[in-house]
Parts: sequence; C-alpha cells; structure tokens
Amino acid sequence: MQRPYNFSAGPAMLPTEVLEQAQAELLDFQGSGISPMELGHRSKFFSEIREKTEACLREILAIPNNYKVLFLSGGATSQFAMIPLNLLRNKPSADYIETGIWSKKASKEAKRYCTVNLAGENHNSELLSLPEQAQLTLNPDAAYVYYTDNETIGGMEFKYVPETNGVPLVSDMTSNILSRPIDISRYGLIYASAQKNIGHAGVTIVIVREDLIGEPHPMAPTMFNYLAHAEQDSCLNTPPTYAWYFAGLVFEWVKRQGGLEAMQRQAKLRSEKLYAAIDDSDFYTNNIHPSSRSNMNVPFILADANLDEKFLAESQAAGLWNLKGHRSVGGMRASMYNSMPVAGVDALIDFLNDFQRKYG
Ligand SMILES: *Cc1c(COP(=O)(O)O)cnc(C)c1O
Repeated sequence: MQRPYNFSAGPAMLPTEVLEQAQAELLDFQGSGISPMELGHRSKFFSEIREKTEACLREILAIPNNYKVLFLSGGATSQFAMIPLNLLRNKPSADYIETGIWSKKASKEAKRYCTVNLAGENHNSELLSLPEQAQLTLNPDAAYVYYTDNETIGGMEFKYVPETNGVPLVSDMTSNILSRPIDISRYGLIYASAQKNIGHAGVTIVIVREDLIGEPHPMAPTMFNYLAHAEQDSCLNTPPTYAWYFAGLVFEWVKRQGGLEAMQRQAKLRSEKLYAAIDDSDFYTNNIHPSSRSNMNVPFILADANLDEKFLAESQAAGLWNLKGHRSVGGMRASMYNSMPVAGVDALIDFLNDFQRKYG
C-alpha cells in the first residue's frame, strides 16, 4: 500500500520505518510479554526506555551536561505559562519578539504574570521579513528573551540566534527542532511538543539550563514546576509513556539517517525545490522575504482563490494530503518535516505544474 504524502502541520507525517517498528513491538515490548503502552512508568523496562531516549536525544542535539531534559505533558501551549512562572525569578519583565501567531499567544499568556516588552516585530515592505538583530530592542534587565524560531502558521524561520548579552534566551522550536544542528549553549531554554517533528502528540520536550530552574512563582501549580519535574526524572506523575517511547524510536531513526546534518540537507533540498517552483510561476505566490522563509512550513496562495476547493480536492485525490492553509490565514500550506521524503515534494511540484496548466 502506497501511503499518501501528508503535508499536515501537525500531527504530522511519521517515518513508515518507525511506525513499522512500533507495530512490531506493540504486543510484546522486547520480550517483556506486554505492550509498551502497558509498561509501568517506574518499571525496569520503562526506566531503560527513559534512559535510552534521553541519551539518544543528548547525542543527536549535543546537549551539554549542565542542561536538564524534561519530558512533560500539556503541549507547547502549557509552556506559554510555565516559562514565566519558572523563569521570571522575581524580575518584573520579560522580552518577547512577536513574529506570528505562536509568539503572540505566548506573549499574551506571559502578560498574566509580568510586564512584556515587545522586543521585535516583523517588517512588511512588499515581502514580510523577521526582525534583524539590529532591529531588536532588548531590555538588559529582562528575566529572559523569548522568541519562536519557526512560526509554523506564517512560514517564517529565524536564520540567526538572537544575541541577548547574557539574558537567558528562550525558544519555541516546536516545528523545527531536529531539522538542523543547534548550539544549545546559546539558549537558556528550548522546548517543543512532539507532534510536528518528534513523534505523536502527548509529550513535550524541555531542554533547560540547570541554573535557571529554582523555586517557581508561589502560585505555580506543582505540575508547572520545572524543578519538581527535574527532581523526579519527569515522573512526578504518570508521564505520557507511549509518546515518550515513540519519541525514542524517532530519535534513533534520526541518528540512523545521519543525524541533524543529514536532516538539514534534506530540509534545504525540499524547501529550496518548492520555493523555486512557486517563485518560477505567476500562479502561486509566497510573500515571505527569502531571508525569513521557513524550511519546514511553506504557505502559498493561488492566483485565483475560487480555485482553492478544486486544488484541495484534486491534490487529495493525487495522494497529497492536508495542503489547506491554517484557518486564520487561508490559502495553502505545505509542511515538510523530517519524515517527508524528497519524492513527496517532487510529487507536489508535478501537481502544482499540472494544476496550473489546467486552470492557470
Ligand atoms: C503547534 C505549535 C504550538 C502548539 O503546540 P501544542 O502542542 O498544540 O500546544 C506552539 N508553537 C508552535 C511553534 C507550534 O508549531
């Protein structure tokens, strides 16, 4: 059976090889006699899964020893509150670079707990671009600087790491973690929920510099306390065990593919092909400046919005699924995470060209 190419922004396509491995182990995890879903979170088998999973992530991301890796639930959205509750450390304000829907949501949530300085915004002159370093207005007394490395809905990705002069840098990497090597030591905290590029929904990974986690805000629920999770190896309560196990299979897969350098080469190959096809046509448009275009999520519009429904129906029939843009922006969007083969992008480009010939 040929699986469709699934361009969904999330929950997203997963590597077939990993799904098959999960299937093979579903009824009997490595001779335990039971399913990985049935393993107790404090059992010997699950302890091995936890250790192996964290070790593999530390290896592929080269995470320094002074960083904790937490496996939490509640999705990326819980982090919008958990970050100010834990990282303000009695400071009155934090800097937020607002570049799209996800960073704006995070900033709105932070306003419940502190003063938010708007540290940067997109620029719009014909094409939309992210702020450059020189355009950021950073407050040296801010508790942290927050930004979204890849805006999944807008299709914009930072090509540089903001320099913050010692103020801890916090990044939402939900939709581009594991797509290229990153220098973890530049960050105070990085987080990502799983359903874009790590696995299936349910687990959220937080990589945080040890010295930044201490007593949280006194009103912070225990479940929103990084230190409490860190002290209990992320087993403060029953963690999302299967999502955690599955993430481990994906990390091993990334390693087998050649690690993050290989992921980056594939990501560039996919997105460069698709942007070139869009830019070469006068029928499809992407309005993001090349300096800010995402390697993961490519939004585009058709010259005639009346053709949108036809486009979606015909692409679906051609085995190219979920190309509909986010409901807040309309148009189309192709999300191409690590599991999207280059052949999927080639098939999409053939479809774009055929559709334009028929209706353009
Ligand atoms: C999907 C997404 C979120 C929201 O993730 P949930 O796990 O659904 O809370 C947040 N930030 C970014 C960048 C995303 O792509």
